[in-house]
Amino acid sequence: MYDLARLREEFPVLSTCIYLDSASTSQTPHRAVAAMCAYFYEYAANHGRGSHHLARKTTEEYERTREVLGNFLGVDPGHLVFTRNATDAINLVAHGTCWEPGDEVITTALEHHANFLPWMAQKARGVVVKVLPQRRGMLDPADLQEALSPRTRLVAVTHVTNVLGTVQPVREIAGIAHDAGASVLLDAAQSVGHMPLDVRGFDFVALPGHKGLLGPQGTGALYAADYSALSVSCHGGGIVEDVSLDGFSLLPPPARFEPGTPNIPGVIGLGAAIRLVEELGVGEIHRHETRLGVQVHEGLSAIAGVAVYSPRGSPVVSFNLEGMDPHGCATDLDRRQGICVRSGLHCAHPLASSLHPAGTVRASMGCYTTPDEVATFVETVREIAGAR
Ligand code: PLP
Repeated sequence: MYDLARLREEFPVLSTCIYLDSASTSQTPHRAVAAMCAYFYEYAANHGRGSHHLARKTTEEYERTREVLGNFLGVDPGHLVFTRNATDAINLVAHGTCWEPGDEVITTALEHHANFLPWMAQKARGVVVKVLPQRRGMLDPADLQEALSPRTRLVAVTHVTNVLGTVQPVREIAGIAHDAGASVLLDAAQSVGHMPLDVRGFDFVALPGHKGLLGPQGTGALYAADYSALSVSCHGGGIVEDVSLDGFSLLPPPARFEPGTPNIPGVIGLGAAIRLVEELGVGEIHRHETRLGVQVHEGLSAIAGVAVYSPRGSPVVSFNLEGMDPHGCATDLDRRQGICVRSGLHCAHPLASSLHPAGTVRASMGCYTTPDEVATFVETVREIAGAR
């Protein structure tokens, strides 16, 4: 096991609470904050514009993160577009695809709204949206086989659900979709940085910077294996080669998809954070979080009146206390021990409401979570269950 005590020194806030909401957003390590401070205090300027030394240094550091992320994922950095978050990455594909009326998108009943609403919104452009069913938090590739048609352009699917932590058979899904001539968008919001992820084999992958990669909020990226199907949906400065009064020509990707002044400090902080993830090793992080997932599952399952919905070992654990509103339970956990968990429908109404009309309480572990914290959490749930 890696050195947890040393790792936690990177996250001062963790001495003030028990943070079990990493599926929503991660805490940011000291080194990422320091990199952002260095940007502001030492060389802040705009990216890609201007030849003065501050602009050159800013551009160098911003582009370094693209290299770091490319290296981390094992892909050419030129295939990575920085975005505000995973939602933005998915919308870049939804709005950047030239849809023809009758084109089909297949998504699923497991999705976070970020990978559901952008497709539903395309219905207004004549796109047919098909939704694959889920059973016990899992997709069946046979359902995809049945849903595919010669008009299917894209299959948009999550890797790991944010409600249950179930891992989907996405390689098989991609194979089936590709055989039918459809592209595949993978929502890797809950997998990148948490478990080994090979983005090759997918056409698009949505990557938040602020979850498993430990970067600051307001960062993310889109991996695009091929940009040819994507047109620019947001225009402005920083993306053009030439402009005249009659028209314009665009820079090649990825620059053409990053209009305006980007989140420069955030991207620079993200680069520093990814280096920490690399030092820890994604395999080690996965083993650590899985062990904690087992501990939570076993602990909660042993308490009378607790329904655990997630599979054993998932570091995202949804549960409910019989007869208690999930928000009430979350508030009580915070009041008693400063435990931060998420409650409700988790921006995934179709899946979460299928478990309980009011949703669930969700505890999600990160690379910095300790077994002691998990033990305190389980004990506090036991106390709340006993006090009802
Ligand atoms: N997809 C999944 C599975 C998520 O869990 C989330 C956020 O929790 C998102 C997409 C949206 O991510 P972001 O907040 O980076 O836009």
